[in-house]
Amino acid sequence: MDMQTSFLDRLFESGLLIDTGVDGLYGRSGQFEDVIAAFERLIDQFGGADGAEAIRFPPGMNRAFFETSGYMKSFPQLAGTVHSFCGNELDHMSLLKCMEVGDDWTKDQQATDIVLTPAACYPLYPTVAKRGAISESGALFDLQSYCFRHEPSKDPARQQLFRMREYVCMGSEKHVTDFRQSWMDRGVEMMKAVGLDVTIDVANDPFFGRAGKMLANNQRDQNLKFELLIPITSAAKPTACMSFNYHQDAFGTKWGLNFADGSVVHTACVGFGLERIALALFHTHGLDVKEWPESVRKALWG
Ligand code: ATP
Ligand code: ZN
Ligand code: MG
Repeated sequence: MDMQTSFLDRLFESGLLIDTGVDGLYGRSGQFEDVIAAFERLIDQFGGADGAEAIRFPPGMNRAFFETSGYMKSFPQLAGTVHSFCGNELDHMSLLKCMEVGDDWTKDQQATDIVLTPAACYPLYPTVAKRGAISESGALFDLQSYCFRHEPSKDPARQQLFRMREYVCMGSEKHVTDFRQSWMDRGVEMMKAVGLDVTIDVANDPFFGRAGKMLANNQRDQNLKFELLIPITSAAKPTACMSFNYHQDAFGTKWGLNFADGSVVHTACVGFGLERIALALFHTHGLDVKEWPESVRKALWG
């Protein structure tokens, strides 16, 4: 095969990913999905005994919750909103005319009450806050959602619509930082079981603008975010396939998540980038699953 063929082209040629004409927006083959399903079962094996409450939200969230989250302060460049046509018949006629002559037909679309979910845990905090006080022994949730980020790229590991599996822990500082540490250890163990080379490093989010630089430095200096990295597109710059985030009491304060005595809970979340993990497996072991090492197939399919 031509050495110049990119990993993305090879994924298209093999049919594992399906080109839609938009960078970062792909269809997935049954084989690709089967790898994700198998890896999620492995996640269940590692986390299943913890007694997390499973919740599945759709890939859109309440716009009011999104506004309260402060996402537009930190990552305005990544957000995606859902807009719809809300006009009358006359408006409809001018809409169709507009499309016919190739003008911008989207400019009169109105914002709906739905925003695309930027990270699987975003809809959870207001949902849990509504339930009342958090137990002294803490709370644990198991989430999975398609997430949207407006970051079009030719790198197959950077998609605009991708799935995140998350565990979210709420409780005391010690409780949630222990949770985070245990998943860093499990993450390394899991990836080893499927034959992937990993490193863990401190990280920061890409907060927008000059003020964002300070937020990013602060996050890094305080070890609030770690990533588990696996080489996919580049050996020199491995890709984050999991992240381990400690929010201190920031989300507890924002959403009013409290213990019964009124004190604010701390939160942490651990996210698996499911497409990235599948891509790391295909990149490391080859595009044909039948050719994968026996130990890897055994870990995934028993
Ligand atoms: P990166 O630094 O690579 O942009 P991130 O810090 O933005 O990653 P998180 O916000 O921590 O990522 O999201 C949790 C996980 O979701 C990441 O560790 C990664 O595996 C996955 N992920 C994030 N952005 C994308 C994307 N654009 N496409 C595919 N997976 C992604
Ligand atoms: Zn999260
Ligand atoms: Mg990012």
